Amino acid sequence: MGRLVTVSNRLPVTFRSDAEGGFTLVQSTGGLATGLSGPHGDMGGLWIGWPGDLDGLPAPQRVALDDALAAMRTVPVSLTAEEVEGFYAGFSNGVLWPLFHYLLERLPYHSRDWDAYRHVNEKYADAVCASYARGDVVWVHDYHLMLVPALVRARIPNARIGFFLHIPFPAADVFRIVPWRNELLRGLLGADLIGFHTSAYAHNFAASLVSLIGIVPDIDRVRLGDRTLRYGVFPMGIDARFFSEAAADPDVVEQARAMRRENNAQHLLFGIDRLDYTKGIPRRLMAIERLLEMRPELVGKIRFVQVAVPSREDIAGYDTFVGKVHQMVGRINGIYSTPVSAPVHFIHKGFSQRELVAMYLAADVMVVTPLRDGMNLVAKEFVASRVDEDGVLVLSELAGAAAEMGEAVIVNPYDIDAVARALADALEMPRVNRQKRMRALRERVIRFDVHRWATSFIASLNEVTSEGGRDSMAPQPPDADDRILEALGPAHGLVVVLDYDGTLVPFGSRPELAEPDRELLDLLYDLCERADLSVHIVSGRKRETLAEWFDDSDIGLHSGGWKRNLEVDASWKGRVRPILERATDRLSGSFIEEKSASLAWHFRLCDTEHAAWQSRELQLHLTQALSNVPVSILLGDKVIEIQPHGVDKGRVVRTLRQEHPSAAFLALGDDETDESMFEALPDDGIAVHVGPKSSRAPYRLPDHKAARALLRRLLT
Ligand code: UDP
Repeated sequence: MGRLVTVSNRLPVTFRSDAEGGFTLVQSTGGLATGLSGPHGDMGGLWIGWPGDLDGLPAPQRVALDDALAAMRTVPVSLTAEEVEGFYAGFSNGVLWPLFHYLLERLPYHSRDWDAYRHVNEKYADAVCASYARGDVVWVHDYHLMLVPALVRARIPNARIGFFLHIPFPAADVFRIVPWRNELLRGLLGADLIGFHTSAYAHNFAASLVSLIGIVPDIDRVRLGDRTLRYGVFPMGIDARFFSEAAADPDVVEQARAMRRENNAQHLLFGIDRLDYTKGIPRRLMAIERLLEMRPELVGKIRFVQVAVPSREDIAGYDTFVGKVHQMVGRINGIYSTPVSAPVHFIHKGFSQRELVAMYLAADVMVVTPLRDGMNLVAKEFVASRVDEDGVLVLSELAGAAAEMGEAVIVNPYDIDAVARALADALEMPRVNRQKRMRALRERVIRFDVHRWATSFIASLNEVTSEGGRDSMAPQPPDADDRILEALGPAHGLVVVLDYDGTLVPFGSRPELAEPDRELLDLLYDLCERADLSVHIVSGRKRETLAEWFDDSDIGLHSGGWKRNLEVDASWKGRVRPILERATDRLSGSFIEEKSASLAWHFRLCDTEHAAWQSRELQLHLTQALSNVPVSILLGDKVIEIQPHGVDKGRVVRTLRQEHPSAAFLALGDDETDESMFEALPDDGIAVHVGPKSSRAPYRLPDHKAARALLRRLLT
């Protein structure tokens, strides 16, 4: 296994200058840093990210810093203050963060930070490419770096690239709001594996691919030309062992006891979050207020401690938000305090994780009610810390963690009355119930911990990109032309077999609009002039159309059963046509094309999402209706074609082989109907797939222009 190259916005250590003009590197305690420290160590990896603001660091110190970072195998990406402002505060946290958390009212009216986002993503991609060694596994993290997978892929086509999104992927109708939605999706598509916390997020991603860029994924994968992208669900865990061990530490246990003693209340409730508007703190406070209003007997008997770690204070509206929270706390305490106690204790600062464990242990009820949260690790840390198998978790159904933590008391954080009732239930829950729920939760949190998360993602990435896992498809090297011509060799007599649509011309919006241009006609006629070369077009189009277009030429025209005069029973058409007509009625913009020997149903002009759905239904319907009829149902490019067995294109090639027994063969085609043609080639025949689909052909060209360029080289 190669090295692991982790790429995240921040490094797992942050630079801090000290008073003496030196610096320290502070270890981060976040889930990502913990989860990946194991693989980072074991796989001899590198970690690429921003080390913090280095402005004003004198040159000698900079050298010392670089040495210290290199010793930890971290690679700093330096960002100017302006870049941090546009990329981090402006686009990542100003646009993507609220949008992906469905808080549309937090979106700026107008964002000018896209260029900064793209530029900084390029800087990260540059750093990856500069450090990359063959065999490395590149793992890119989170919404800050969504363009990095494609940027790296463009420069290192065979790299193994994984991407994990730590926040929700929103519903397609919400995602489409961001003007750069297609660029973001295409950025992600550079990866081999994309991981999400929940199946809902994975589903949303797939729905966006269909509706925005017309790619229809299979259950867990997308075919992209010469490779397959997989996407899957990898719920992130925590370092459960650390929390369990800390919770057994006598000092921590004593801190928890002291907390209960000194908060002279009977019931303690805790909330622990970054002070971020997604965490639902104002509504949570309203639920506490509602609880006291509903249950006046609890006044003086409960205390709610909210720890709110200052976070992203440079984001627009942060100060107003903090002011609002303070005001609410003041109001509730003003109404419900007694001479010896106040119901809400608000702490606006951060604590170490050991200190948090003492709070987790002291809590009767842990209140985790974000309005949206990719996962929420606090919920899992609370559970891991409760070695006494006690305490109740009240958890928002809109946190990713809810998908795995069904034994918590699950609430809708927008329904304040319901949250208040759930808090009352949690406070009154009998011990045996608390224990039952907590045991089940603990088992899962301990089993699916952060180490398992990291190793299972990396294992899947290796599986997807290992030889067997990758599609056995031809790569598209820049010199594909040379290789094809070299493979053909100095043949005496060459038969060139060409598909028409998608291979020689781009698709028109309707089949009759794709007539050959002058350049193509000249090229084909020039090829026919060559004594040692014969040109054949094998197309599903009507023979009249081909004859009209290539009037009077020596090009061999093969349209279904025409030239070879196949005796084909066409009675199946009578059964298929009504089915296609019904599908056409249901899908506006679709239409039927009658070909010499086949029928085709086109949906090129239709709404992609609806078309994907309808075409799948039609395929199923046709398969059932035609189960004992000798026809094939072929999915082409935005077309379903039904053709009788025996008129496939392979038949034309087989006949040509009999006519030219010692000639070399070159065949070009772009879709599934051309595969039979490739299959029928002689062993030394050259099959070339044109375009991005999967194919048995060992050679690949990107499009019809490249196909024409290859043919032109046959003239020289
Ligand atoms: N945390 C901390 N000190 C605090 C409050 C929180 O170290 O005072 C940590 C907490 O232990 C957890 C993380 O911050 O690991 C918060 O992660 P979560 O997934 O809950 O929310 P996020 O901040 O990622 O949105």
